[in-house]
Amino acid sequence: MGIKVCKFGGSSVKNSLQIKKVIDIVKDDNNRRVIVVSAPGRDEQYDEKITDHLLNLATNGKHFSEQKVDITAKNSLSAIINKFNTLCEDLEIKKESILNDLKKDLEKNFSNQEKNKAYFLSRGEHYNAKIIYEFFKLQGLNIKLMLPEEFGFILNEEYCDGKVKYETYKNIKTNFTFEKDEIYLVPGFYGITKQNDIVVMSRGGSDLTGGELAYAIDADIYENWTDTNGVYEVDPRVISNANVIPRLTFKELRLLSSKGFNVFHFNAMLNCKKGKIPINIRNTNNPKHDGTIILSERVPMENLVGIAKLDNMASIHLQKDMLADEIGFTAELLKIFSEVGINTYHYPTDKDDIAILVEQEDLKGKINNLRREIEKRLNTDNIFITYNLSIITLVGIGLKENTFTIVDAITALKEKNIFFEMFDMSPSKISFHIGVSQNIANIALKTLYESLLENR
Ligand code: ASP
Repeated sequence: MGIKVCKFGGSSVKNSLQIKKVIDIVKDDNNRRVIVVSAPGRDEQYDEKITDHLLNLATNGKHFSEQKVDITAKNSLSAIINKFNTLCEDLEIKKESILNDLKKDLEKNFSNQEKNKAYFLSRGEHYNAKIIYEFFKLQGLNIKLMLPEEFGFILNEEYCDGKVKYETYKNIKTNFTFEKDEIYLVPGFYGITKQNDIVVMSRGGSDLTGGELAYAIDADIYENWTDTNGVYEVDPRVISNANVIPRLTFKELRLLSSKGFNVFHFNAMLNCKKGKIPINIRNTNNPKHDGTIILSERVPMENLVGIAKLDNMASIHLQKDMLADEIGFTAELLKIFSEVGINTYHYPTDKDDIAILVEQEDLKGKINNLRREIEKRLNTDNIFITYNLSIITLVGIGLKENTFTIVDAITALKEKNIFFEMFDMSPSKISFHIGVSQNIANIALKTLYESLLENR
């Protein structure tokens, strides 16, 4: 029997209406036997996620005040209690003991700050799972609640960034026996240390719980239910009629994802990739759509699968006569970037020039120091900095076999008179990067989409 592990994210469990959609999805397929749930996500536009409220409470209001959001710890406490109260009422389940336990938990105070944060953060998933469990039971589902602290989802002692310990896989195998047609319901995001302290993984960590469960039980598929139809060929915020990519490899997905356009937690893919377990991104609000399947391997039927765009990039261009002949020049340059704490992307280079592409945001508060160190240690002739660049990346494993796609891309840009600032091919030959000025980036993306993807 093929087991499906299904993870429902914050938007899929944010209110009773969404939770009712979840039960329909679970009932629709008998192989959906492991259900992982997040804490309730943002319900209305100006609302905050329950996990953020919990963090605000644990930090006595600091979490929101740092983001200039005017919500006190007291406000967060009532938002959390209200949310769970409303959920219980709307789903018509008994609320007294759930709410009493929740209130008691939220009064706890551990002397270790990180431990305190982790404990509070975990309560969103913990109580949401309890409520969903009661509701599923009421609806006649043969459901069993599997709490991480009970079946042994063991993490190391990094309280707010826990990593899975090896024994977790053994514990999952022993406890998830799939007897008696049971469906297992698991709160995502948290686990326990060997000393029984609650630990959370990084933010968005329910994806990780689902990925680890899928890997440990060697599931047929890991369904990741969210609020989008899948991974789009291009950012649908820029091109509204963009299509969802039906199949792509883990590597292609990584190349296509950029800040603000990530569909799920990358580390959740690692073990699925290792176990060759496909991940299917699905939409809770549109369950008829097949979504996107992410695989370890696929037949490259088309050259290009998608085009990503990364905005707010900056280029730091260094000039020095014959720098290419100075052994160790690039190594020293990259060392300076690492000492200043700036992540680097591409490095186009020739005899007298090298440019380093970075995220503009990373330069904030650091650029003065960076320039000073470079001038002092590398004796450069000039340093030019260009801000507001966008990197457009063409992705597809088929590009390796047909590099001429790039000729079509450049021709399309030429026809529209769109200049580019940078161009390079990745060593894997499955992606090409074209750097353009940010003010024309959307036009460039649209041009490439129309000529390479839209009508194929
Ligand atoms: N609730 C957690 C968060 O907001 C984990 C998750 O939703 O995956 O980060």
